[in-house]
Amino acid sequence: MEEVDPPSRSSSEAETRFRLAFENNVSGMVIVDTEDRILHVNSAFCKILWSNTEELLGKQISSFTYAEDRQVTEEAHLRMLSGDLDQTTYQKRYVRKDGAIIWVEVSNGLVRGDNNEPLYLVASIKDITTEHNLHEQLDYQAHHDPLTGLANRALIEELLTSLAETTSVKDNKRVAVLIVDLDDFKDVNDTFGHRTGDSVIEAIAERLKSVKRPQDTLGRLEGDEFVYIATDICSVDEAEKLADEVLSAFQDPFNVEEESFRQSASIGVVVSNCDEGVSIDLIKSADTAMYEAKRLGKARWSLFTPQLAEEALDRNRIHHELWQAYSTGRLQMYYQPIVSLATRDIVGFEALMRWHSDKRGWVPPDLFIQVAERDKLILLLGSFALEESLKELSEWVQKNTHRPAPYVSVNLSARQFHSKELAHSIQSALDNSGINPQNLVLEITETAALSDLESTSRTLASLSDLGCTVALDDFGTGYSSLSYLAKLHPNVIKIDRSFVSSLSTGSENEILLDCLGSLGHRLKMTVLAEGIETESELDILLELGYDLGQGYLFSPAVPSTEAARILESPPWK
Ligand code: C2E
Ligand code: MG
Ligand code: MG
Repeated sequence: MEEVDPPSRSSSEAETRFRLAFENNVSGMVIVDTEDRILHVNSAFCKILWSNTEELLGKQISSFTYAEDRQVTEEAHLRMLSGDLDQTTYQKRYVRKDGAIIWVEVSNGLVRGDNNEPLYLVASIKDITTEHNLHEQLDYQAHHDPLTGLANRALIEELLTSLAETTSVKDNKRVAVLIVDLDDFKDVNDTFGHRTGDSVIEAIAERLKSVKRPQDTLGRLEGDEFVYIATDICSVDEAEKLADEVLSAFQDPFNVEEESFRQSASIGVVVSNCDEGVSIDLIKSADTAMYEAKRLGKARWSLFTPQLAEEALDRNRIHHELWQAYSTGRLQMYYQPIVSLATRDIVGFEALMRWHSDKRGWVPPDLFIQVAERDKLILLLGSFALEESLKELSEWVQKNTHRPAPYVSVNLSARQFHSKELAHSIQSALDNSGINPQNLVLEITETAALSDLESTSRTLASLSDLGCTVALDDFGTGYSSLSYLAKLHPNVIKIDRSFVSSLSTGSENEILLDCLGSLGHRLKMTVLAEGIETESELDILLELGYDLGQGYLFSPAVPSTEAARILESPPWK
């Protein structure tokens, strides 16, 4: 290899200075000719590449430049040689002698001759591998969930923001966002501890990764909430198929620490709209749809519609107004007589809550009870129903000393039923009213009873210790699991009114009512039919041996004073 002339043609003093600055520089220094060939290197540069001077002289820079970065280097050199720039700085990768990838920052300057012709490129090279890797690691941590390695909220939001800029309505591709929220995951954490909960989350993330299409993105937004983003959706149908696919990932149990966890999820689906395009608001819309899926019974998906958003907003308003109505004493209890079908005597009253809003008129309890379930308002409404109906029952009992005292049947919401305070609040309502526990029936729905069987069994035991009676409400509309009916063994089953409506002899409903009635009787339960509206329905139910009934045939739910009057002399007798 021929020794190379120093780049400076000036005085020998300047030449020495340059040589010293070059050789002793702590940065790697390299001089290349216009053909990219190395003319001179210093020892710091050799150190970066784990090579010696002999190995490097005459070599082209591109020969140890990382393949993907060759173009950047070439372009920078060309721009300088063409006179576009005299100086450039950029980052690139070298492949070291042992194959390791080294990140470097290159500052290039061009030296020209007397006629302004390009002579050499002098480059200073800094090894920035450590800083670069640290930066990458920090960047990764800032954008990924440490437990599952999935994209976190920040990265998902960045993705949607960049999609908003790049997805054109014209190319006919739409973006689908699916929020996947685990159902009642709190129970897993509460029962098995957070460490096991984390392992279940990891197993779920792995399952979701296995159904994810390569082009899609999966993220974890928070504890029990995942997000799935598909960017090449052509139709709503396609997004719905995707939702089915994601839902199917929850079909089989998750095996963790020798336990088998059945875990379902509710999914909200939104597809970007051709007019509005992609935006970060898609997450909010998918969330609204996810709450709808929860509301409709969980373990399913719902598709976002603008109407859904409107309804969700309205439920928020109702929630606020309901708090106000409760705080200002605007809620009332009404009472519907429960009648012995054989004698037509009143045996009790079901207490049903009523809310008359100045703005909305009568708001159906099905709606406002569900809205109250969102927070502790439901517990306050539940206590109010208990206290108020027992207080009013004690007033009727005092006025009607001559007859056997009727009972009052109070509905318990799911949250109230599983609340630790339940036994205590029942006891205090009984104490305050002086009502005998035998005159209190507590109605629970199957969905509430079956959502957490262990807690249900404990609660039922504590209610029976208090001496109260339990009725299973709306039987036949939920899971109607017969083995659980035997296990929970309520005192009364209330057969849902959907079986009674349009009941006629020989109809399918008659057969079902027959079966349900016999089942209850064989399990030694009292059987009650809800929603009796006509004499002919009553006749059939009598024929089928039903014990009790309630319905508009006798009376709708009425205010307390009216209930007391009906108790005195039932108009149907
Ligand atoms: P539920 O406990 O099954 O109550 C029976 C519902 O059927 C009542 O509706 C009652 O008015 C209605 N009903 C009774 N007889 C007939 C009939 O012959 N025909 C028809 N079409 N309907 C009849 P309501 O009062 O609208 O209550 C609806 C649901 O709201 C209740 O169903 C119960 O689940 C819930 N709810 C009402 N009050 C309370 C409460 O104080 N606490 C809780 N947790 N839930 C309540
Ligand atoms: Mg009820
Ligand atoms: Mg019912």
